[in-house]
Amino acid sequence: MNESNLSKRLKLVAEQIPTGSRLADIGSDHAYLPCFAFKHGIITAAIAGEVNDGPFHSAVDQVNKLNYQDHISVRKGNGLEVIAEGEVDVITIAGMGGPLIASILEAGKTKLEGVKRLVLQPNVAANQIRVWLEANGWTLINELILEEDGIIYEILTAERHGENPYSVANYQLELLLGPILMKIRNEIFIKKWTNEITEWRKILTQFEKAKPTPEVQNKKQELVERIRSVEEVLK
Ligand code: SAM
Repeated sequence: MNESNLSKRLKLVAEQIPTGSRLADIGSDHAYLPCFAFKHGIITAAIAGEVNDGPFHSAVDQVNKLNYQDHISVRKGNGLEVIAEGEVDVITIAGMGGPLIASILEAGKTKLEGVKRLVLQPNVAANQIRVWLEANGWTLINELILEEDGIIYEILTAERHGENPYSVANYQLELLLGPILMKIRNEIFIKKWTNEITEWRKILTQFEKAKPTPEVQNKKQELVERIRSVEEVLK
């Protein structure tokens, strides 16, 4: 791992970690993120957690190669079970689906005691993470959106305190699109949601061909409304 081969995505995740943090990177794979963060003096120590053998060994090899064994502890286990309560102040979980990230946080709730910041990078369904954060007393303090190699990613940063970014009137839409990203409303955001609308329109065509049962009608109506409200934001 060197400067140039850490993805833009993971560099942006690293930028969300406050200097001097003790980090747990869950689903660390090659441990590129904690190694980069340690090398650049962002963190003082890290745990790289991995549930699968292959990525676990890749992480061990990478940490050994850089001689960071005294600073980065590679641990095998499911989700947050690799950390002890109070051991870290920041948790990063990157490169998984939103539902998996939310389920890891839910299953490891007791380990979040003492954790000040979560940096979460879902590949899909970021809305499910926003819902989890809302239900569990975490406040979104930042949202980023980026495109790399033709894929669009979102990065959600949350803390226990902060200004509520949601509005009462647009709450459901903000959970879907991201309350902060909706305000930033940059080119990548517009591209992501324009692509989503194209996909939703294809689903709508399928619904139109299907037998109009009440269930189909309801789903169709829900989709029509979703398309209309997202289009409104993109205007
Ligand atoms: N975080 C790295 C990144 O963003 O590039 C690696 C992402 S990789 C696609 C997802 C990793 O998460 C895999 O190495 C997988 O083994 C690991 N993983 C999946 N579920 C996990 C869980 N419940 N606990 C720990 N690791 C998990």
